[in-house]
Amino acid sequence: MNAKPLSGKFGIVFGVANKRSIAWAIAQAWHEAGAKLAFTYQGERLKENVEELVSMFGSDTLLIPCDVTKDEELDTVFKKVGEAFGKLDLLLHSVAFAPKEALEGEFVNTTREAFRLSHDVSAYSLVAMARRAAPLMKDGGSMVAMTYYGSVKVVPHYNVMGVAKASLEASVRYLAFDLGPKKIRVNAISAGPVNTLAARGISGFTQMLKHYETNSPLRRNVETSELGATGVFLAGDGATAITGQVLYVDCGYEIMGMSIG
Ligand code: NAP
Repeated sequence: MNAKPLSGKFGIVFGVANKRSIAWAIAQAWHEAGAKLAFTYQGERLKENVEELVSMFGSDTLLIPCDVTKDEELDTVFKKVGEAFGKLDLLLHSVAFAPKEALEGEFVNTTREAFRLSHDVSAYSLVAMARRAAPLMKDGGSMVAMTYYGSVKVVPHYNVMGVAKASLEASVRYLAFDLGPKKIRVNAISAGPVNTLAARGISGFTQMLKHYETNSPLRRNVETSELGATGVFLAGDGATAITGQVLYVDCGYEIMGMSIG
């Protein structure tokens, strides 16, 4: 077996905010598997942090600002990636946003603007990225998006983000159908809870971690390195017939029909 299963592959990673980000874990795993990566960050606030992290992969690592709600910024990202790499094989979508107040109260109170913004950032952005990435994926490719179980079942406080994740997962399936003839695969990883910046915005998140530890078949929470390993699997030759899927990497929590504690 090839020790570096992704060697010779080029990838773009959206969603590194800091070293706890799921995107960072998957990027590290892709890098260790031999891929050459470009990164984006949102706004000046994160620039220094992300710059320091990605410099680990070499001082020439491509780092481009991108607010995923801005078409012109997405255009620039893919133009620069095309110029630097000449092609693209991997894309990681690991971005999501909902206003804090939408993740606290009742879903019934979601405002039109909170609904619009959370769907724009967390779901439509995958479509916008896929359309621009596909022409660069000349030898086929693998797109991976991060999702959560609140898309299919009610998870208290997840609210509009659950509805946006349902839209993201449906988008994964429609994109998989459109891009399949180009040998581009599109899948989602449904991760169990991980203590990140975005997660801390969800009210009751600490309880959620404890609940998974008590009730998942493996009686623990997922490690980000395990999400990285799944990211490598989905990007590599072991997954060449897998597309349009939502893969649960949650210590088995998704199969449970009843809590035990
Ligand atoms: P994170 O480190 O906070 O990453 C979320 C990223 O989304 C940040 O880099 C954030 O940048 C970015 N983002 C938000 N709005 C954006 C915009 N308009 N343009 C560009 N980037 C934007 O949190 P994470 O937990 O790793 O989240 C990554 C993905 O995993 C998300 O899709 C999340 O829903 C999913 N997920 C997380 C968990 C969990 O428990 N943590 C479980 C399942 C799935 P800013 O910091 O600047 O906003």
